[in-house]
Amino acid sequence: MGQNVIEDVFAKDVFNDSVMRERLPKPIYKKLKKIMAEGQDLDMEVANAVAHAMKEWALERGATHYTHWFQPMTGITAEKHDSFIQPAGEGGIMLEFSGKELVKGESDASSFPNGGIRDTCEARGYTTWDCTSPAFLKEDAAGVILCIPTAFCSYTGEALDKKTPLLRSMEAISEQAVRVLRALGNEEVQMVGCSVGPEQEYFLVDRDMYLQREDLIFTGRTLFGAMPPKGQELDDHYFGTLKERVAAYMKELNIELWKLGILAKTQHNEVAPAQHELAPIYGTANIATDHNQLVMEVMKKVAKRHNLECLLHEKPFAGVNGSGKHDNWSLVTDDGQNLLDPGKTPHHNLQFLLFLAAVVRAVDEHAGLLRLSASCPGNDHRLGANEAPPAIISVFLGDQLQDVVEQLISSGEATSSITGEKFLTGVSTLPDFTKDVADRNRTSPFAFTGNKFEFRMVASSLSVAGPNTILNTIVADVLEDFATQLEKAEDVKSAAHDLIVKTLKEHQRVIFNGDGYSDGWIEEAERRGLPNKKTMVDAIPELVTEKTISVFEKLKVLNRVELEARAEIYYEAYAKELNIEAKTMVDMASKEFIPAIITYVTDLAASINEITAACDGVNVEVQTELLKKSSDLLAQAQKALAKLRSSIAEAAEIKDVAKQANFFKDVIKADMDALRAPIDELEPMVGKEYWPVPCYADLLFSI
Ligand code: ADP
Ligand code: MG
Repeated sequence: MGQNVIEDVFAKDVFNDSVMRERLPKPIYKKLKKIMAEGQDLDMEVANAVAHAMKEWALERGATHYTHWFQPMTGITAEKHDSFIQPAGEGGIMLEFSGKELVKGESDASSFPNGGIRDTCEARGYTTWDCTSPAFLKEDAAGVILCIPTAFCSYTGEALDKKTPLLRSMEAISEQAVRVLRALGNEEVQMVGCSVGPEQEYFLVDRDMYLQREDLIFTGRTLFGAMPPKGQELDDHYFGTLKERVAAYMKELNIELWKLGILAKTQHNEVAPAQHELAPIYGTANIATDHNQLVMEVMKKVAKRHNLECLLHEKPFAGVNGSGKHDNWSLVTDDGQNLLDPGKTPHHNLQFLLFLAAVVRAVDEHAGLLRLSASCPGNDHRLGANEAPPAIISVFLGDQLQDVVEQLISSGEATSSITGEKFLTGVSTLPDFTKDVADRNRTSPFAFTGNKFEFRMVASSLSVAGPNTILNTIVADVLEDFATQLEKAEDVKSAAHDLIVKTLKEHQRVIFNGDGYSDGWIEEAERRGLPNKKTMVDAIPELVTEKTISVFEKLKVLNRVELEARAEIYYEAYAKELNIEAKTMVDMASKEFIPAIITYVTDLAASINEITAACDGVNVEVQTELLKKSSDLLAQAQKALAKLRSSIAEAAEIKDVAKQANFFKDVIKADMDALRAPIDELEPMVGKEYWPVPCYADLLFSI
């Protein structure tokens, strides 16, 4: 036992490097490490030995099953459990797990989103072991399950998941970054890894109340609901003291995550009431992605144990902030350098400036793709709504780098770097220290934050595989061009310098240090020619432009067929999600709200009749006015309901997925708003005992 709960539980459920070193024969361990580092083919001898050690370890821990754990295009994870059981003759059994079972699994690809790549008649798909992400144990009511992180591809080799392209993109950026470093004279570096730290926002609501709302159950967000008297205006929730029930939840969540080897680090209350955040310490992109999927899953699971429900939707409540996921991203060499670390004097740091210029150019050239990579229907409610960065992609550099970039652009040379000033509190007993060289900019979608970029647009419910695949690929594309130019140069230093200046000049339009929430920026961005794709549907075509296809094919991340399939999957996902929302609204309005309002107006009418009968000439103005107003709103709601119903039927007839998604975006969304408005207006008028569901005040302030 360690001294502390963290030491006691950390990585207890992970088949990690130290377990492998302890349990694998030395030559096998060495071979596996080499395969992991250099990406060579896995031979069966290694696979069999690892499978054996994994099985022994899992059995000791009480495991009964194993599963190939993968990340299909649904955005969540998938698993099918197989027990270790094997018949051993004479009615006996033994427990088996072979290298073949470790390496390869089979699954019905047609039952997962595949964008038409797999028909039901030719349905085979394979899961293959990602030996670079450690296996782990999941323990719940199903018992203990050995989970093996895998990639998921079709029989014909197309990626059907989020992990395969991420792994391919990591190889692509490593290869191109190493080429650039070689050209700059670094002979040591063999591999450049991509580090990711995703900060996860979420809401907690009482589960009994949650279960009374169909919209939360089916869509993860409230489709109706008037603002309570108090929202987030007092700024009293952000970093506020944790409520007991939330604190107990966070405590258990941390323990569960530490057991899985997840470096859960920071926890706090967020801006909106009932909103919170958890951030782990960053790690290699594919492991960070696996971990973030687990964070989301464990958040939901642990919440139920506390009779809470964890909402990961981007906009569970209108009128208060929604949730995002900041994707912190950097490039790290195998000899330990962070390529995005500017050092103390960035104006002298040619290597840093070159990588910085590459990122700036990549973001400018592929802004639409980045926008898409952060998108899901839920995030359309946030981006550009004054609580999250706008849908326009720009890069924030901060004062120090902005100054260096301006020097380079204006005179072709940078001769100084602003240094951090002393932080003075004016109180003699408080320590003075040197400030960060740049302030933060919460309004920027893509901000440089010291030694990494923070992509702040990403949706809270989304896998970070997508955004990081896109980031790696577009930056790899620029690095490939840089490497090709530098490899040919006679004087590499001066060629690199010229390349930095030229790149920054050409792409300075994407750099913006001001207030991204202001209307002025929207106009300014338009003048600069920066795209402003307001919705996910507007951004999907970015995936299949000839420019995108050529970059992704060149770097072998996704081919044309895979990209086209993904575009189709996104359109379909958008249409399906909105269809469920629209149908849920119809259901709630017709079965719950309208009958409740009818009861209310009928009671009002009866009350008017009774009172007038009891005493002729008595004042019933209040009841009459309420009766008129609520009857009018009721009629409006009924009309909007009919319209929404007919639009849903119309949408179902549209065969082309892109057209269908656009119809949902342009027509159904407006119909949904038209139905919500009268019902939200009625909510505060109608007596509380009539209202059929818990309201915002109950949901946001009850725990
Ligand atoms: P902030 O609060 O300014 O966003 P933090 O230091 O809390 O900064 O970092 C937020 C997230 O960024 C954490 O997950 C952290 O581990 C991660 N992070 C820090 N440095 C890096 C890096 N070099 N590359 C990727 N992620 C990083
Ligand atoms: Mg942050």
